[in-house]
Order: sequence, then C-alpha cells, then structure tokens
Amino acid sequence: MGYSNEFRIKPGSKVNLDKMDAGYHGGYDDEDKAAQELQKNARRLSELQALMYAENKHALLIVLQAMDAGGKDGTIHHVMEAMNPQGCSVVGFKVPTPEELAHDYLWRIHQHTPRKGQITVFNRSHYEDVLVVRVHNLVPEEVWSKRYNDINNFERLLANNGTTIVKFFLHIDKDEQLQRFRDRLDEKDKQWKISDADYKERDYWDDYQQAYTDVLSKCSFNYAPWYVIPANRKWFRNLAVSEILVETMENMDMKYPQPTVDLAEIKRLYHAEVAEEAGFPVSSVHDKPEDKEKKGKKKGKKKKKKK
Ligand code: AMP
Ligand code: MG
Repeated sequence: MGYSNEFRIKPGSKVNLDKMDAGYHGGYDDEDKAAQELQKNARRLSELQALMYAENKHALLIVLQAMDAGGKDGTIHHVMEAMNPQGCSVVGFKVPTPEELAHDYLWRIHQHTPRKGQITVFNRSHYEDVLVVRVHNLVPEEVWSKRYNDINNFERLLANNGTTIVKFFLHIDKDEQLQRFRDRLDEKDKQWKISDADYKERDYWDDYQQAYTDVLSKCSFNYAPWYVIPANRKWFRNLAVSEILVETMENMDMKYPQPTVDLAEIKRLYHAEVAEEAGFPVSSVHDKPEDKEKKGKKKGKKKKKKK
C-alpha cells in the first residue's frame, strides 16, 4: 500500500528533513475526499481494534512526536476517535517528576506500554530523552549519546514480547508552526495553549531538527519503524496516519478466537427459536444436560416398573 511505504524510514538510511516536503498532500486537492477516506479508515480501525481486543494476543504501541504545534493532539483526536476507549489509552509524557528522574529514563515509560489486546498512544515518549534533553544539555553528551542504543534494545524487547510498534514524526515547517501559534491568538478555545516557552523553543528549531534527524536515522527498524508524516495540512496528516495504522494492524494477521463451547449445544439448550429453525428437537431445549439425564433415568425407571 501507498503511504506506509512512502513515508517509512528505511533502516540505516540517512534522513534529510529539509528535503522532505511538509506540505505534501498525496495528490488530494480536495479535503472532502480525504475526509471520506479518513472515515473509511476510522471504521476499519474500529473493527481491527475489536478483533485485537478479542484475540488478546498482540499489543500495539503508537509513538507520536512532533515540534510544538505539530499536531499530536489533533492526530489523536481525529484518528483514534472511532476506537473503543475500553481497548485504548493515551499517555502523555511531560517534564519528568523528581521520582521519575531518580530512576533510569525508561522506567516511567515501561510502566505504560500496552498489555496484550490493548492499543496505547504515547503523546511524546522516551524519545524526549534524546530530543529536548539533548537540545538543552540536560545531561552530558556522553550520557544521551548512549541512549539510541538503549532505546533500540528496549523496543526490541517489546517487539519480541508481542508488541507491534509504530512511530510517527509529524513534520511541519517553521513557518507553519508560527502560523499555528498566531491562529491560537485569535481562537478563544485555543488561547489556553499559548505559552512563552513555545516561542522561545523556536530559537532551537535547527537543533531540534538535527536531533530528530539522528533519531530517525538511528532508530528506525522493521520491528519499530519511524514514519515521517507531511503534516502542514492537518487533513492529509490524519489520512496518512490512519492509513498506516490500518495497514499495520491488517499485517498483524489477527483472528477471532475459536469459541470454547459447543455452539449447536448452546443453541439447542438455551435458544428455543433458533434451535427450531435449525431443526433441533424443541421439546427439551430448556433442559440442562443434567436434567435431561435425570429425566431419562426416571423414564427408564417408570418403564421398568410397568414391566
Ligand atoms: P506538552 O506536551 O506541550 O504538554 O509539553 C510537555 C513538555 O514536557 C514539553 O516541553 C517536553 O519537552 C517536556 N518533556 C517531556 N519529556 C521530557 C523529558 N524526558 N525531559 C525533559 N522534558 C521533557
Ligand atoms: Mg507544548
């Protein structure tokens, strides 16, 4: 299929974000058409999630990373809305607490990885420990530079234990970011998102792009691929993410578990009308097997008495 192949970072490839067009929209000129496709994908995702929950064999971890205003929240809202909350959770990773900082940096992450049957979305992730931490020198280079290897091993561990991992970098331009910040000034329901820090972080744009380049180049594998999603157009971003998720889940080769009971027997015993349609004798449909046995014995006894 298309976008999965197009946007996937091949293991070992040298990534150049400048050459990746954040405004790409895959030949869709029309937002409405893309919205229809998104709806279709959302419905399919909902079916696949139900199957995953029932099968209870695989787990799915979705990692979302982006620059500020890159659209992580919007992606979660639009792509995941068709899913059943019972089988799905979203975990956001903020500045670590003192307790979290007192442990290794993967400690807080591992606690939230999905159990079998579940989908978990990470809104930011362990990658912050080689992104913001690197850009702001929160630990020395000799510490963060070893983390790519840790992260690859950590994700390998999860994959070896039945977790499918997909990672999305929502790629926007620096101008697009400023436009989104500006839009927030005008929209009452978005003003709460405005922060001084976001504007200050823009000064580090190039450092972040470099840090992302290293992440994408060093940490994309077949068992845990990175996808760079052109994300200037929100509707295209949603469509591309949803399509890749559908394909990922279809490749998981899931099946509903076999029933553990004899369905014909259950129908015969408890569902008279169904049993009748299926041509089972109806007289005894409400009898439990033990009752039937008793009745049989009684009948047998009576007959014997008669003799
Ligand atoms: P937001 O996602 O906008 O609510 O912001 C969360 C903030 O937490 C961002 O500024 C992140 O850079 C920051 N953050 C997340 N993980 C870490 C980390 N491991 N170390 C330092 N800052 C972090
Ligand atoms: Mg923010």
